[in-house]
Amino acid sequence: MITSSELISLVKGYDPNASEDLIRKAYIFAMEAHGVQKRASGAPYFYHPAEVAKFLAELKLDVQTVITGLLHDVIEDTPVTFGELEEIFGAEIAFLVEGVTKLTKINYTSSDMHQAENFRKFLLAISKDIRVLIVKLIDRLNNMQTLNYVTSIEKRKKISRETLEIYAPLAERIGMSIIKEEMEDLAFYNLHPEEYSAISLRLDRIREKDHNFVQNTILELERVFKDAEITAEISGREKKIYSIWLKMQRQNVTLEQITDIVAFRIIVNTIQECYLSLGVIHTNYPITPGKFKDYISIPKLNDYRSLHTTVIGPLKQAIEVQIRTKEMHRVADEGIAAHWSYKNDEVIPGKDDPKNYSWIRSLLTILQSSGSSEEIMAHSKLEIFENEVFCFTPTGDLIALPRGATAVDFAYEIHSDVGNTCIGVKINGKIVPLKTVLRNGDQVEIITSPYQCPEVVWERFVVTGKAKACIKKFTKAHEKSEFIALGLQLVRYIFAEANVYFSENLIDLKNFACSSMAKFYHDLGKGVILPESVRSMVPNSEYRVNVRDNYICLVDFTPGIAVHFSECCSPILGDKIVGIFVHKKGIEVHIAGSECIEAKKGFMIKVKWNQHDEVDATFIARLRIVIKNETESFAIITNIISNNGAGITNLKVEHRSTEFFDLLVDIKVKDSNHIGEVQAALRACSVVQSVRKL
Ligand code: MN
Repeated sequence: MITSSELISLVKGYDPNASEDLIRKAYIFAMEAHGVQKRASGAPYFYHPAEVAKFLAELKLDVQTVITGLLHDVIEDTPVTFGELEEIFGAEIAFLVEGVTKLTKINYTSSDMHQAENFRKFLLAISKDIRVLIVKLIDRLNNMQTLNYVTSIEKRKKISRETLEIYAPLAERIGMSIIKEEMEDLAFYNLHPEEYSAISLRLDRIREKDHNFVQNTILELERVFKDAEITAEISGREKKIYSIWLKMQRQNVTLEQITDIVAFRIIVNTIQECYLSLGVIHTNYPITPGKFKDYISIPKLNDYRSLHTTVIGPLKQAIEVQIRTKEMHRVADEGIAAHWSYKNDEVIPGKDDPKNYSWIRSLLTILQSSGSSEEIMAHSKLEIFENEVFCFTPTGDLIALPRGATAVDFAYEIHSDVGNTCIGVKINGKIVPLKTVLRNGDQVEIITSPYQCPEVVWERFVVTGKAKACIKKFTKAHEKSEFIALGLQLVRYIFAEANVYFSENLIDLKNFACSSMAKFYHDLGKGVILPESVRSMVPNSEYRVNVRDNYICLVDFTPGIAVHFSECCSPILGDKIVGIFVHKKGIEVHIAGSECIEAKKGFMIKVKWNQHDEVDATFIARLRIVIKNETESFAIITNIISNNGAGITNLKVEHRSTEFFDLLVDIKVKDSNHIGEVQAALRACSVVQSVRKL
């Protein structure tokens, strides 16, 4: 295990200003915090964070990151709190450690590829600081390196699968290919031990057979470069076992058929020399057409730069050659971590916050692009990613939604039936309003009731197309039946006004271009057919009647569809009211005699709240109240109602779940203001989820 002095001198080697005290303090703090805890190997637990810190220092990461490596498991595995870390090591380190802890707590369980991509994005979204992700990757790499000590094969496979599907692709995306490759090989070894050893054995044999091939090729290339007077480091590098296996799967070939098991690397000092070297290779050896790639002019999204070409090499065998500068080489291996230390070399005083570096921005572009690293769509994808929020179902499935999405959007995302019947929601175990905007990592539990149906107001706060479409679809269907009902009442009303008894055979559908009575009622209710045109066609029938009390009764309609309450005078139950027929809308209800009526032109209709509409000193209003299913809930709401001078005349539990009671309550109130007061008082109460006047 690395000692604190060794770690300090390692960090001092690239950052002479690093605080020796802080590193030592963190080293001792973590060692003491983990105390006698042991790893699966039987070694002291502290070996693990010490190894992680050492790796981070070898990558030349900033001192805060190295210290985060030392402390990364103390919040999760020891009694140490965020507050203590903040007090001792400052806000930045505490924030980084907390970030790693958050990532650790998230469990990836799905085997669905789409879920894997969501999950990777989610990790990125909650990492906030890229250093959190780097520490997490190194943590995972060290766990993979010691995975053979874990006795449960199931557990080893689960961790390996997670590494292969989540962490290795993340490492690749930030360009840390050394880490990615080691993770992949370790995971592959645990998941498919037989395939792993088969390839490994055959590689040994090929190496034995071609013992001198690599060495002789390098010697030949060195001679050619010496003649061309270019200083170059030339080496041969064998492909990793997992990537050989992938290639065998993809191209359906045997190991012996893969020609580029070894790639030759030519590392030079300048970009100019890269192209000169390419010229040297292409003039000395025949090129294999179609294999040349210039990642210097067009770097990969993870900033990988290099020239690739395949030629028939000095030993008359196809070889892949990669040409790059030293800096490109480091970036190819370490990705973002290499950038970090390079930029740290040229820190401008006062501007040394790594988060300000412009490359971070380009890095975000890389992270956010979900497809292959060669996709050029980076910029358009950036937006998509920033606009997403990731939440969990109670069973741990991850749901991606656009930013600003609410609990209702979440419900519809699960299933349209869940959305259509959702009555309440628990976020992270707490009951909150349905319009609550979701945040990254929220665990969302939707509560449904068979009596619930989509409410028109939902349309105002949902953001997903699916939720909008479902609510619209529901209201559309509902709308149709409301307009038909209104049309039927209207035609009766118009006939009654002319003292003619209405019967369907008195309507000539041809006059209204309607194919059915239902269509006629609907169009009349909606105001496509004007009431005046119906009135002008009332026949002089012998069936004359004398209707004394002609009106349309509002109790049959849902407000907001075919019947609308005027927003200028806002009538409520108990007010004396009048209806105005509005073209293509239905009926608008106003308080009788209010000023706003004068501005309106239209067919006036007598309307009543209900059959016994005469405004009494007291009347009954019906409320639909959803309350939390808690022992005190009933007592609390009955108290509120009586404290506000109203009385309950009837109460019915329409539906109960473990979370909610869905109630219909009839209450006796003095006037329309009174019912408003009672509703307001109920809404202000914490056990009340919603109140609606029916
Ligand atoms: Mn750890």
